[in-house]
Amino acid sequence: VFLSPLLDKDFKELDGRRKRQLLKDSAPSSLLNGQMNGAPPMKPVDVLPSHSLTSTRIIEQLSGSHDLAKMLADYRAKGGRIRQREAPDPFSSSSLVAPVSASTGGRTLLKTDSEDEKTGKLNDVNWAPKLDCLNPVNHQRLCVLFSSSSAQSNNAPNPCVSPWIVTMEFYGKNDLSLGVFLERYCFRPSYQCPSMYCETPMVHHIRRFVHGSGCVQIVLKELDSPVPGYQHTILNYSWCRVCKQVTPVVPLSNDSWSMSFAKYLELRFYGHQYTRRANAEPCGHSIHKDYHQYFSYNQMVASF
Ligand SMILES: [Zn+2]
Ligand SMILES: [Zn+2]
Repeated sequence: VFLSPLLDKDFKELDGRRKRQLLKDSAPSSLLNGQMNGAPPMKPVDVLPSHSLTSTRIIEQLSGSHDLAKMLADYRAKGGRIRQREAPDPFSSSSLVAPVSASTGGRTLLKTDSEDEKTGKLNDVNWAPKLDCLNPVNHQRLCVLFSSSSAQSNNAPNPCVSPWIVTMEFYGKNDLSLGVFLERYCFRPSYQCPSMYCETPMVHHIRRFVHGSGCVQIVLKELDSPVPGYQHTILNYSWCRVCKQVTPVVPLSNDSWSMSFAKYLELRFYGHQYTRRANAEPCGHSIHKDYHQYFSYNQMVASF
């Protein structure tokens, strides 16, 4: 029986206090005060006026209205409203914030009735610590909850690697290529469990990457003999859980070997609409959701 430490009243109290402190530290107000927990300082931004599509009353079918289609295309092409100001002057940035915040204080007393003017003046202060969610630059990373466990380990029922959040930046920090991940952490016989209490071989471990409501788990299996002729090549094939069909076994291409592992995981979590193209008979099931993907090298198979 596993008793949660949170059942202990003193511990719960302590943990609650720690969480409240964490929340306080990450509150946006600390950003305005210049306490950024080591994050790079925010660049001054310009906020563009909202697009006319957001305030237009839509009463026609998109297919029937050329003007509406044009407006939608323009809205999509324009992207987010927050623009980083080019080449900010480091000496002017501090003096820039002060007069604006002063003017906000004054304006709340005045209570301007024009909504547009209000948002226009608020822009600098309100938007400074915010990120543009439509800017693709802000989506070049993936956060996953990683853990590793084995029922045969001395650590069981606890995991060998307790769940922790890894922020993987595509082709950057905490990322590696799919090929390197497979070679280093799946197929290398000398790779051992990082837990100092565990002597169970990696082949008996399950590693999990959790993101949102999805989970990709890596299970290793040792075959009795390698695929003849392909001992030194990484092979790749998939199996549909729904219709039990398997795709042809093909060597992993150089492009796939070099692909970002974080991007691979992201596609597994979000690429619901990708379907199998390899066989003549299409099955129509999601290749990232309904398929097991296998990578094999020598006698080892890694299933994702
Ligand atoms: Zn272990
Ligand atoms: Zn299928």
